[in-house]
Amino acid sequence: MRISVIGCGYLGAVHAACMAKLGHEVVGIDVDEHKINGLANSTAPFYEPGLEQLLRDVQDTGRLSFTTDMSAAAGSDVHFICVGTPQKKGENGADMTYVDAATLALLPHIAPGNIVVGKSTVPVGSASRLAGLVQAQEATAHLVWNPEFLREGHAVSDTLSPDRLVYGVADGSEDHPAVAVLDEVYAGSLAGGTPRLVTDHPTAELVKAAANSFLATKISFINAMAEVCEATGADVTRLADAIGMDDRIGRQFLHAGIGFGGGCLPKDIRAFMARAGELGADQALTFLREVDAINMRRRSRVVELTREICGGTLLGTRITVLGAAFKPESDDVRDSPALSIAAQLQLQGAVVTVTDPKALANASKRFPELHYEADLDKAIGQADILLLLTEWQEYRSLDPYEICSRVSSLRILDGRNVLDAAKWRAAGWTYRGMGRP
Ligand code: NAD
Repeated sequence: MRISVIGCGYLGAVHAACMAKLGHEVVGIDVDEHKINGLANSTAPFYEPGLEQLLRDVQDTGRLSFTTDMSAAAGSDVHFICVGTPQKKGENGADMTYVDAATLALLPHIAPGNIVVGKSTVPVGSASRLAGLVQAQEATAHLVWNPEFLREGHAVSDTLSPDRLVYGVADGSEDHPAVAVLDEVYAGSLAGGTPRLVTDHPTAELVKAAANSFLATKISFINAMAEVCEATGADVTRLADAIGMDDRIGRQFLHAGIGFGGGCLPKDIRAFMARAGELGADQALTFLREVDAINMRRRSRVVELTREICGGTLLGTRITVLGAAFKPESDDVRDSPALSIAAQLQLQGAVVTVTDPKALANASKRFPELHYEADLDKAIGQADILLLLTEWQEYRSLDPYEICSRVSSLRILDGRNVLDAAKWRAAGWTYRGMGRP
C-alpha cells in the first residue's frame, strides 16, 4: 500500500521505517528540515536500537522516502498522524496544536476512499472532531484512531510485532470500510498472531489513556510501598517479589526507584485528568493526582538520601550521576527523573557530573548548567558519591572492586534497585537502595 506518515519523531520515524519493512511504499513527512535531511540519509534523529540499520535496509529497497513537503502525501491510501501532543505550558492539558495543524495541512491532499489514521495520544473526543474535518473535505474518506503502545528502547520490535492493535472507527463496527484497509496495512503483524480490537472513537482514545494511567499507578503503588518500607526498615524489592508471585498482581512494573518520566506517562496522566475535568468526570481520576505526587516525591527523596549518606550536607560534594535518559536504551530526556534530580542537587550546592552513553547531547540542551562527561572512567574519578539513576547495562555491570580506587569515597545510591547490594557492601561500599534497609 502507499502510506504517508506525518510527524517523524520517536513514534513516526519508527512507524515509517517499519511500514516500509512490512512491504509498503512509505513517505515520511515532518516540518523539521534537519530531521528529514538526516532520515533521508538513514540517520536516525534519536537513539533507538535497530532503527538506523532498519532505515538503511528499507531505503535500499526504494520503498521509503522523507520530505518536508506535505503535498507528497497525495497519492497515499493511508495517512498516519504521528505528531507530538506535549503538555500545554502552565496547564495539565494536552497541546493539540500540532495534531490540528498537521491534519489541516493534510486535508487538501486526501482523495476519495483515503484513510486518515491518528496514532498520537490525544484527549478523548479529538477523533470525532477530526473525523468531522476529514469528512467535510472528502465524504468518502474516513478517520480511524489507532493508538500506539510502543516502548522506547524496543520501538522497532514493538511496531513490527505489537501485542495488540486497536482500531477506533466512527461506528465501532467490524464492517466499517476502514477496518479492511488497516488489516491490509498490518497484514504482516496480524498473520503473526497480533490480536486486534475494533472499537468506537472514544474507546480507542481511552484505551491509551487508561493503559498509561494503569502503568503509572502500578509504579507509584510500589513507590508508595517503598516509602512505607523506608519508614519501617522493610525491603520493597522482596515485598515486590512476594506480591508479584500472585498472578493477579504480576511482578512487571513493580520496580521501586526514582519513579517514571519520559515524553509520555507524566504528560498523559495529567492530560487525562484535565480532560476528565472538562467532561465533569474529574472525581473518577483524582487518584491520578496522588499517583503524580508520589512519583514526584521520589525525586526529592533521592536528594534527601544523598544528603544523608554524605553526612548532612551537599555543599561542595562531588556527585556523579550515572544516566541522564529517562530510561536505558534511549536518548530521550523529556521529563527525565535523573536529570531533574541532578539539577536539584546542583542547586543545593553539590558539584554534579552527569554521564550517559547516549543522552548527553539532548541533556545538555535541556540543562546547559550541568556538567557532562561522556567518558565513564573520567566521570566517576574523584566522586564523593555515585548515583545510579538510569539503569544502563554498563552501570549495572560496574565492578565495585575495580572502581574502588578511582572514586574518593565508597558511596553509592542505587536509584533503580538494580545492583547486588551484598556484593557492593562486601567490597567496602556504603550502598543504599530505594525502599530498602
Ligand atoms: P516527537 O516530539 O518525538 O515527534 C513529533 C514530531 O512531529 C516532530 O518531529 C515534529 O517536528 C513533528 N511535527 C510537529 N508538527 C508537525 C506538522 N504540522 N507536520 C508534520 N510534522 C510535525 O514526539 P513522539 O514521542 O514521537 O510522540 C508523538 C505522539 O505519539 C505523541 O502524542 C505521543 O504521546 C505519542 N506516543 C509516543 C510514544 C513514544 O514512546 N515516544 C509512544 C506511544 C505514543
